[in-house]
Amino acid sequence: MPDPTPRVALVTGAARGIGAATAVRLAQDGFAVAVLDLDESTAKETVDAIATHRGTAIAVGADVADESAVAAAVTRVVDELGAPTVLVNNAGITRDNLLFKMSPLDWDSVMGVHLRGSFLMTRAVQKHMVDAGWGRIVNLSSTSALGNRGQANYATAKAGIQGFTKTLAIELGRFGITANCIAPGFIASDMTKATAERIGVPWEQYVQDRAAAIPVQRAGEVDDIANAVSFFVDERAGFVSGQVLYVAGGPRA
Ligand code: NAP
Repeated sequence: MPDPTPRVALVTGAARGIGAATAVRLAQDGFAVAVLDLDESTAKETVDAIATHRGTAIAVGADVADESAVAAAVTRVVDELGAPTVLVNNAGITRDNLLFKMSPLDWDSVMGVHLRGSFLMTRAVQKHMVDAGWGRIVNLSSTSALGNRGQANYATAKAGIQGFTKTLAIELGRFGITANCIAPGFIASDMTKATAERIGVPWEQYVQDRAAAIPVQRAGEVDDIANAVSFFVDERAGFVSGQVLYVAGGPRA
């Protein structure tokens, strides 16, 4: 029997890639899902995929770095689905370049989506979790947080997300809320396709080269990350908080 009052999960950047897979997975886990992305019409594709599995979802268009858009989006989710008690801060962009060629705009854009976006979304949603006395926050970091050539902006933002997550765990734990980070390694998605394109390596070759350097000898798939999110938001993961899980096919420091 389906749960008569499913918990509501909000996933950002969920029109495609890791976010879309996560939204579908959480719907399969029994959550009603708000699929948030910049463009509501592309988010609708994920909603349609969820609907084919008889899940409940709505598409919400918003820029996570825009304070008023975030407030309006969360209000819409509350009105149309119910108060969200699961938040996955997944929306992300890259603006890679070596430091000497990196523009302030490239720096600010990456900080805006990853850090300001995660901050604004979490601040807007946490009160619903506090009211419910239960919540799950999962933030997307990256192995790049450990340092990566050409990604001074992205690596900094992804390291910042780890500090943000640990602080959320400390501040919000008393309200029954956990906060954890997933730091993916190489995952085949539009984001990594764009990187291959930028450095001029054919996609198949790029995947093969990256996989060869991964202990399990394959590229990550979006479902590898969706599965990890599913673990963190599970009722039974309530004693796991403030952690960074590297999902990278091998160990990271
Ligand atoms: P992706 O395929 O590029 O998807 C990112 C999604 O975020 C897109 O739908 C994008 O919308 C949306 N988005 C971008 N800026 C936004 C904003 N300001 N407000 C709302 N939505 C926005 O990326 P992905 O590979 O699935 O990555 C998802 C997350 O995992 C990111 O945080 C990324 O940094 C992280 N990650 C990925 C990898 C990897 O190997 N793929 C590794 C480590 C970490 P548009 O399409 O409209 O731009």
